[in-house]
Amino acid sequence: MSEKKKLSLTSRIVIGMVAGIILGTIIRYVAGDNAWVSLYLTNGLFDVVGQIFITSLKMLVVPLVFVSLVVGTCSLSDPSKLGRLGGKAVGMYMVTTAIAITFAIGSAILVQPGSGIERASDASFEPSEAPSVSEVIVNLFPDNPINAMAEGNMLQIIVFALLFGISMALVGKPGERLKGFFDDLNSVIMKLVVILMNLAPYGVFALMAKLFTEIGVEMIGSLAKYFLLVLFVLLAHGLIVYPLFMRVLARVKPGIFMRKMRDAQLFGFSTASSNATMPITLETVTRRLGVSNSVGSFTVPLGATINMDGTAIMQGVATVFIAQVYGLDLGVAEYLMVIMTATLASVGTAGVPGVGLIMLAMVLQQVGLPVEGIGLIIGVDRLLDMTRTAVNVTGDAMVSCVVARSEGDFDEDVYYDNDAGKKLEEL
Ligand code: ASP
Repeated sequence: MSEKKKLSLTSRIVIGMVAGIILGTIIRYVAGDNAWVSLYLTNGLFDVVGQIFITSLKMLVVPLVFVSLVVGTCSLSDPSKLGRLGGKAVGMYMVTTAIAITFAIGSAILVQPGSGIERASDASFEPSEAPSVSEVIVNLFPDNPINAMAEGNMLQIIVFALLFGISMALVGKPGERLKGFFDDLNSVIMKLVVILMNLAPYGVFALMAKLFTEIGVEMIGSLAKYFLLVLFVLLAHGLIVYPLFMRVLARVKPGIFMRKMRDAQLFGFSTASSNATMPITLETVTRRLGVSNSVGSFTVPLGATINMDGTAIMQGVATVFIAQVYGLDLGVAEYLMVIMTATLASVGTAGVPGVGLIMLAMVLQQVGLPVEGIGLIIGVDRLLDMTRTAVNVTGDAMVSCVVARSEGDFDEDVYYDNDAGKKLEEL
């Protein structure tokens, strides 16, 4: 008997996503006020399944980052390579973010998304306190690594894992013995990632079904110009700028990169969190794109924490938009300030849903724009958050490939092999 051809994981996730969007939209317009539907479906089944899905992804992040980074670092032949790697990755992350935000500001100045918009009198937003640059730097170092793990403080976990891995490499025999243990642990955690990936279609379905009972296209309303402009710049950055980097700096055919990144992008889109998507990004980068584990295990968590090009794009457009709505003029110096602040701000912020708006408060304050302006765009932010997270995740993977290529840690055979990593993805 011929076996039925199994749909690819990507297709199954897309089906789950589309079905969820359709069902959520139907519920919103047909059964929005039905108490039974709201109690048992929207806030019952969909909510429970969606929450469990996101929570299980997050559950993997801390053990995965720590273990894979220790494995990656302790097998580095030359620990000084780490400094070079770190420098390159941070440099690339900053440069791509600065490019993204410059592109966004330029487009917004051209399109003028804020012209003709009435300032809503009820716009309100309470900014939270942003940390200073020196605090951000000191906070890289954990005083208690267990605490850092308990809090999910990614940068502190990265620093501890690097120091731990380097010591393992330097100590000789005990380090080698421990490496076997960490290798095994890494395989087990990766298996767990694969199991979760295979459950993703259901999780994504539930997340979308719940979300789309809450948001509808009519919410975009007068913000259509702003919304579409952010979307356009996000897509252009993801579909033109990244492939260009892949072609020029990683020196590979970019179409393959975009195809292999689809799963991670779908995860990013449906969870709106680069952090929660990190296990999938890491799996894609190391097993499917050909980046060595020692580079990927370092650059991916670092990127998920400090690299947010999509977020910077939203911030660029939003700053110009808010200035226009409030009738305030920004000069070149202020725009440069926006580029600098947004680029630096992204370093100190975690990849969780909605965090881009908090960072925007910092940027607005820096150039003297009213922070309440954020209240104007909050209503359409969720959909943009989802899209920009997909861009953020793609940026992390792109930089990982470029850095790996420059270090000679990039396996082209894996990159060009369509089936690379597929076997491991099967349960
Ligand atoms: N949700 C985004 C992320 O996790 C951050 C943001 O822009 O709010 O990458």
